[in-house]
Amino acid sequence: MTFHGKHLIAGEWTGTEATFASTPVTGEPITVSAGDATLVDKAVQAAEEAFWSYGYSSREERAAFLNAIADEIEARAETITAIGTAETGLPEGRLQGERGRTTGQIRMFADHILKGDYLDRRHDEALPDRAPLPRPDLRMIERPIGPVAVFGASNFPLAFSTAGGDTAAALAAGCPVVVKGHEAHPGTAEIIAEAIKAAVEKTGTHPSVFSMIHGGSHEVGGALVQHPLIKAVGFTGSLRGGKALFDLCAQRPEPIPFFGELGSVNPMFVLPEATAARGAAIGEAWAGSLTMGAGQFCTNPGIAVVGKGPEGDAFVAAAKDALAGTGAQVMLTDGIASAYRAGKDRFDGRNAVTPVLTTDSDGREATPNLYETDASAYLQDHALGEEVFGPLGLVVRVDNLDEMVTLAKGFEGQLTATLHMDDGDADAARALLPVLERKAGRVLANGFPTGVEVCDSMVHGGPFPASTNFGATSVGTLAIRRFLRPVCYQNLPEALLPADLQGI
Ligand code: NAP
Repeated sequence: MTFHGKHLIAGEWTGTEATFASTPVTGEPITVSAGDATLVDKAVQAAEEAFWSYGYSSREERAAFLNAIADEIEARAETITAIGTAETGLPEGRLQGERGRTTGQIRMFADHILKGDYLDRRHDEALPDRAPLPRPDLRMIERPIGPVAVFGASNFPLAFSTAGGDTAAALAAGCPVVVKGHEAHPGTAEIIAEAIKAAVEKTGTHPSVFSMIHGGSHEVGGALVQHPLIKAVGFTGSLRGGKALFDLCAQRPEPIPFFGELGSVNPMFVLPEATAARGAAIGEAWAGSLTMGAGQFCTNPGIAVVGKGPEGDAFVAAAKDALAGTGAQVMLTDGIASAYRAGKDRFDGRNAVTPVLTTDSDGREATPNLYETDASAYLQDHALGEEVFGPLGLVVRVDNLDEMVTLAKGFEGQLTATLHMDDGDADAARALLPVLERKAGRVLANGFPTGVEVCDSMVHGGPFPASTNFGATSVGTLAIRRFLRPVCYQNLPEALLPADLQGI
């Protein structure tokens, strides 16, 4: 397939004079139209127009549209895998798995809205005879908020990008979407946009319900989040980029919610009995999780907290051996590879940190690195707790449980926190849990956080900087809540209520 590199604005492929070249790992670069504020305005105005029908469509219509998107993505499976692997360097198996996850979550949202629970409908019947004052008839329902902006993520070209979780949740809620494509995978964005366009045509959905604008400069993202008709933003990316966009949202004349999923080091606490019984095995498995996908997961467990002494040493030695045996991996972009090396340099320059395994890499490749420090050094140096996006691990050695708890209290907000524990560690786990649940969106036992199940109970979020909104998740059915707003109807005649509220 040849890629034209155009934007999809309100159902039409649109080119621009200004272009940029894509930077695939393999194959020929694509000439991509560069976005600008004029295109953003056109797409958002069209999305607002579409809202007047799509926002009031039935749940059945939206479910049919979502299922058609999933079908159209599957119909392009091979092309998606081919362009996705060429652009990102991720292996074929990963792209195939991520496609299944993407279509699975689109279909999950279709099923979810059909059930209707997400509407959280409530009814307090009128009490005309109540004294001293009668009570009116009050009914509440969740309503869609309007056009939503979504930023494609570099590290998930499918599941967190053009038709990823943010887009699926917003469309399910009844909100038109304007996607800002990520420069790392414009061809993948194009073919997914084409699948959505085909689903629009197949189901007779308003064509302006979805637009995709390529980047080329920060102008596009800035114009999108500041557009007065945009009502919320879904974002996955860096702390720096996310914070800049969050600030723009907060400074608008009408501030809007920015649902940013930013940095996390996902600490892992290896408790004493588990360390003694299987420290080496946990260390080896940690290395596997740390290097999966070149460490380019927001749930990458970058920090392990382990006791001092020979049993903890066995954990570190096994992790070192396993990491040393992992070869170089291609990273998503040149910029991400150089940011990884800058993160490593930050560690190399610190006296309080001991290198356990240091490696050099070039260009777009990354090789694993491992460092060690102790709790007091960690707590005194804020930079050690900042995410290094890639296969870099830090082991923090502690004297005892009290120090582990103190360390846990010192962590910033996290997407996940993990306990490795045996039966004899239950009291230690009980001491840590009240701290961990205040810090993280997901607490795990005896596993690794890199796999994120897409289901009703999943939370992929957490206190800042894991996310900019601790009440929300970007994965799982609860993700739809970000794009809904409760409305109460007082004494409205039944026939004037939204269809979903009639007869309730
Ligand atoms: P990024 O730099 O945050 O960019 C993400 C998106 O935000 C891009 O579309 C980018 O548009 C836009 N953007 C960033 N800053 C902006 C600004 N000031 N104004 C307007 N738009 C802005 O993330 P990235 O490109 O994916 O990767 C860079 C770093 O992000 C990585 O090294 C890694 O540290 C981190 N990262 C973290 C996660 C995570 O889940 N924690 C995931 C992916 C990446 P442009 O095209 O205009 O740049």
